[in-house]
Amino acid sequence: MRRYRKRTLLLMVGSALAVPALLLSLLSIKLVRDFADIGQTVGREYGEYMATIAAGAVENAFLDREQVNMVAARFVPPEGPGEVIRFLNRFQEENPLYLLSFFVLPEGLVFYSDLAPERSTPYRPLPDWVTDRILATMLKQGEIPSGLQHLQADHPDAPLQITYFTVAGSGGRLLGVAGFIWDLEEVRTNRDFFTQTLDRMVFNNESLFRGAFFDSPVAITILDQKGKPFYSSSRTATDGYIAERPFERLLPFYRVGVQLRDDRFASRITTVVWTSSAMIGITFLAIIAALAFSLRFLLREIELAELKSTFVSNVSHELKTPLALIRLFAETLQLGRVESEEKEKEFLGIIGKESERLTHLINNVLDINRIEQGKKTYRMVPLDLAVLVRETLEAYKFSLSKEGFLVESEIEDDLPPVTADGDAVTQALINLMENAIKYSREERYLRVTLRRDGDNAVISVTDKGMGIPASAHERIFEKFFRVEKGLVHDVKGSGLGLSLVKHIADAHGGEVRVASRPGRGSTFTVAFPFHPPRSGEDRATAATTPEDDEPQTGR
Ligand code: ADP
Repeated sequence: MRRYRKRTLLLMVGSALAVPALLLSLLSIKLVRDFADIGQTVGREYGEYMATIAAGAVENAFLDREQVNMVAARFVPPEGPGEVIRFLNRFQEENPLYLLSFFVLPEGLVFYSDLAPERSTPYRPLPDWVTDRILATMLKQGEIPSGLQHLQADHPDAPLQITYFTVAGSGGRLLGVAGFIWDLEEVRTNRDFFTQTLDRMVFNNESLFRGAFFDSPVAITILDQKGKPFYSSSRTATDGYIAERPFERLLPFYRVGVQLRDDRFASRITTVVWTSSAMIGITFLAIIAALAFSLRFLLREIELAELKSTFVSNVSHELKTPLALIRLFAETLQLGRVESEEKEKEFLGIIGKESERLTHLINNVLDINRIEQGKKTYRMVPLDLAVLVRETLEAYKFSLSKEGFLVESEIEDDLPPVTADGDAVTQALINLMENAIKYSREERYLRVTLRRDGDNAVISVTDKGMGIPASAHERIFEKFFRVEKGLVHDVKGSGLGLSLVKHIADAHGGEVRVASRPGRGSTFTVAFPFHPPRSGEDRATAATTPEDDEPQTGR
């Protein structure tokens, strides 16, 4: 239940931070994508705007020329059919843009200019649809159009552009229609015309919108009916057109394409998108990492708080039991109600043992406190561990056998001395033995050994008690940690004993290990090196007295 609540709490805190972080990241990604889209739209629209302006400028330049031609032609009309060819030749000479000039009389008779006949042969005679359309225009009596007229055919290999207008003789009588087939090759190679027109109307036109945000200069290209460029205002244009647009009234089979002169604009957008995305990603990861760290920290704090509260109740209980016994037997003795001297001795023994347990417990608590405050020091001296282990066992033997324990020991006597704090080593051994006793069930067995293992003196304490599940093997050495399942709940304890053992082992440059299976028992081993390393943080708290060379037991 408690675990369930803890998980809910962590889940709530986690999602309270992770969900907004995720939403924020998604929102930022959307904004960055919108920015990229807007950038592209702005680019495209600016391109379309430029294409429209450029197409209009070129068309108008052509139309202006034609307008002038038309006025000039009408100014000196042919006086009669005999003059028509001369009129046409003169006109074509003045206008290299035209490949063939023709004159259609109202009756349907067609005259042609006879300059450079070889190039104009394919157009002579005019296709029927052309003459038909022209005659149809003239036959509309009363509303004959007065301005320039255009006819186009967008054949993929040989497109056709024709301009025509009516010509009146003196007295205003309609003579016929003068028409011109454009020399499209001349159009395509007329670089100067395009350059001058575009410079005047587009590139040097101060009244045009320049696109404050779109400062990358454009290249204007003109493409033929097959999409092949035949003129470009710049040789260094980027690939691909940001906008394309056909001409409208003249040459509608040709198109204007707008390109960028460099990829400054696109690369700026790409840079913004990439840097923003990277920053969003990094920020998101940082939030998640911070979150994970905080949750771990929170979890530890919650666990520690829980452990501390059980610690208080456990320790109070641990203190109460021996105190109650001491009081009970002290009162009994005081009242002189003891029948025999033997009983009196037994009671005194119990009082002594219980006060020892109390002292031991209080020592554990005080030591942990000292360790936490960094004030714990060890008095390192050369020590004969065999003597120490034997004496400690001896002190416990009587009460152990009374409690029905089978005690075994195997102690190697000829080990070299170990540099150690005798009190600390004794405390560690007592903690391990007390645990072995506390956590034993029906099978009451205790085995203590001291042997050499390479460069270490190893003390081991074995019981055949309830054992420890593998999942808890590491955690039992943490402060306050207690296995919380089954029978263990019945056994009171502070959860400090093993953490002290570990600290003592570490401070001596050694280590503590556990081998245990639930229901089968446990073996704890503490290794003390004969030659502990001189450096290391645990050693920093150790105070050694090298002048004291005699092996000691620390008692
Ligand atoms: P305490 O015994 O006061 O609870 P310890 O730090 O000495 O605290 O031990 C931590 C936990 O490890 C114990 O609560 C117990 O669950 C488990 N434990 C320690 N020694 C043994 C043992 N010999 N047999 C079974 N479990 C043990």
